[in-house]
Amino acid sequence: MNAQRIMSLSHAGVSVEVVAETGSTNADLLARAAGLASPLLLVAEHQTAGRGRAGRSWLSSPGHSLTFSLAWKFDGGLQKLTGLPLAVGTALAETLGRLGQPVALKWPNDVLKDGDKLAGILVETAAAGDGAVWTVIGIGLNLVMPDELEERIGRSVAAVPWLARMDRDTLLAALLDGLAEALRLFDKAGFGAFSARWNLLHGWQGQLVTILDRGEVLHEGLAAGVDDAGRLLLDTGSGRIAIVAGDVSLRIKG
Ligand code: ATP
Repeated sequence: MNAQRIMSLSHAGVSVEVVAETGSTNADLLARAAGLASPLLLVAEHQTAGRGRAGRSWLSSPGHSLTFSLAWKFDGGLQKLTGLPLAVGTALAETLGRLGQPVALKWPNDVLKDGDKLAGILVETAAAGDGAVWTVIGIGLNLVMPDELEERIGRSVAAVPWLARMDRDTLLAALLDGLAEALRLFDKAGFGAFSARWNLLHGWQGQLVTILDRGEVLHEGLAAGVDDAGRLLLDTGSGRIAIVAGDVSLRIKG
């Protein structure tokens, strides 16, 4: 992958760096955020210590996935960022759809293909000093999934071999453009501008699901999409409740 070429193919006006290998593109950008003057996309050809939510890991093997992070600054405090990971999921899913690969969303921020996880999103933040917040938006997207990697992950996961044939720089430029457009809109209008779009892509609408906290069932009910704050609406035996995305996990009730 070539940073200059990605920049020339993109309309986002965002700087791009490509490195051959690193531990975690999120960790790298978090460490650099305070010194950044403008948004930056960091792409790793190979990421050796990819991170997921709550200390979980994101596994990838070189040449088989896209692993990248985008540092983006928002004015105002953390409360303005409510729903940001879901807005990112919406942008990612819509871009993949435009490229000919229909996908669905699982709350709060997974991208699914045929029911299996295709991409993960991890949003982390660093204070910017002037009351603003640097966000680091990490994305791992499986292009092809070798058997030995799926075995290491330990569950059935998805890949998009069709998109894997696409020129990687063009694919990254399209993803960057979709993200940058979404982040500019999010900055102006918040998640309210995305909730209907998210709900159109909701993969588990109407399904009986459970909300787990470290393996313990907190709630169960029918998944009814998200509200304007990005909370999952759940129709339970005692009425509709709204779940805030913390470290809880969502599962189909089996
Ligand atoms: P879950 O998907 O289990 O509800 P989560 O949304 O918190 O959890 P993330 O933090 O987005 O998950 O990602 C970490 C999890 O994703 C890991 O625990 C692992 O199960 C799974 N995983 C790791 N690498 C991959 C990959 N390349 N493709 C798909 N899933 C992966």
